[in-house]
Amino acid sequence: MPAPTDASAALFARARAVTPGGVNSPVRAFDAVGGTPRFIRSARGAWLTDVDGNDYVDLICSWGPMLLGHAHPEVQAAVQAAVACGSSYGTPTEPEVELAEEIVARTPVERVRFVSSGTEATMSAIRLARGATGRDVVVKFAGCYHGHVDSLLASAGSGLATFAVPGTPGVPESSTALTLVLPYNDRAAVEKAFADHGDRIACLVTEAAPGNMGMVPPEPGFNAFLAETCRAHGALFVSDEVMTGFRASRTGQWGLDGAVEGWVPDLVTFGKVMGGGFPAAAFGGRADLMAHLAPEGRVYQAGTLSGNPVATTAGLTTLRLATDEVYDHLTRAGDTVKAAVGEALNAAGVPHTVQSSGTMFSVFFTEGPVRDFEDASRQDVAAYAAFFHAMLDGGVHLPPSAYEGWFLSAAHDDRAIGTVLDALPAAARAAA
Ligand code: PLP
Repeated sequence: MPAPTDASAALFARARAVTPGGVNSPVRAFDAVGGTPRFIRSARGAWLTDVDGNDYVDLICSWGPMLLGHAHPEVQAAVQAAVACGSSYGTPTEPEVELAEEIVARTPVERVRFVSSGTEATMSAIRLARGATGRDVVVKFAGCYHGHVDSLLASAGSGLATFAVPGTPGVPESSTALTLVLPYNDRAAVEKAFADHGDRIACLVTEAAPGNMGMVPPEPGFNAFLAETCRAHGALFVSDEVMTGFRASRTGQWGLDGAVEGWVPDLVTFGKVMGGGFPAAAFGGRADLMAHLAPEGRVYQAGTLSGNPVATTAGLTTLRLATDEVYDHLTRAGDTVKAAVGEALNAAGVPHTVQSSGTMFSVFFTEGPVRDFEDASRQDVAAYAAFFHAMLDGGVHLPPSAYEGWFLSAAHDDRAIGTVLDALPAAARAAA
């Protein structure tokens, strides 16, 4: 039963008059699926409530950060206590130190520097990699998103291991002229790029497990191969864990492969969960590399709100509450949803594949396996749009794009998961 959307529609009309597309980040628009974005008034646990009073089980979770669910009482109390003291001083504070210690304890990084967004984190990590190596070329993979960093908004050039072209108007060719874009999970492409340009490559940056083309896990040993290839050529391996960090597992994606296979990335970027729903992100890595950063070293990097005490308090409280039980719950809830989605889409005869890495997963509306962006691009996006709207009518808010992960939280209890399961059969039939 479609729910009333008059209040969202009215706000959307006002928003479009003053904001491009009516949204402050393109992923929030419904352009890919059609219709009116729901304007959210409040959220609690696993549930969103929109301005028309409709409730939805939230499978976006702010695109990852809300690991514990919305309005977690302990996170709220900690944030309220922090903000009661003041909100930004432009001087060092204790929560920054505590959050840095927590991140260093849980991940392979030895030193960490805070910033306010994942974009800043990858932008800064690349600058550091270039400054530390004295080289200029950056390698990335098609379909991996690292924020809207000019040099990383790049599409593959004409042929393997050739320099990239801008992926959007507004990025000059000179900004992507030092970026190589390769197909994901393709060892031969990586070997050729390093054979052709190895002595100029400052770093290879990759999502630790890509989630921005839907979940495309690294094939077994792929991240280890990347780390080793970089090492052999004197380049740095930058693992972007903005999405996977503290979400794919307690120790991020690295805990699922690096810790098991015995390698460490040179630099890592974090965001999302480590901010607990506030603007906090970070990059970190080996102490000797991080020592190149100002004021210790000469690579400049800075930020007025970096390490903001309210944001770092939210992140610290979130990470302290993100215990093994949270990840066990995410695994169980994810397994239930994945099995039910598969069953419903099979019953309706809809081609699909479900892929995951750790507790993260997504559903592709195409036959699998999906190994790279080209495979992901074969999706039937019209079928996803029909599925998405039927789920919305069933009280479940999925990402409004077929190319996104589905996010759960510790607050997705039996009632929330039951609502998802109840909505699936009709949505699968709508997609058929
Ligand atoms: N890196 C990855 C892997 C991401 O998923 C994102 C955002 O989705 C970013 C970087 C950019 O983070 P932000 O949106 O905080 O700038």
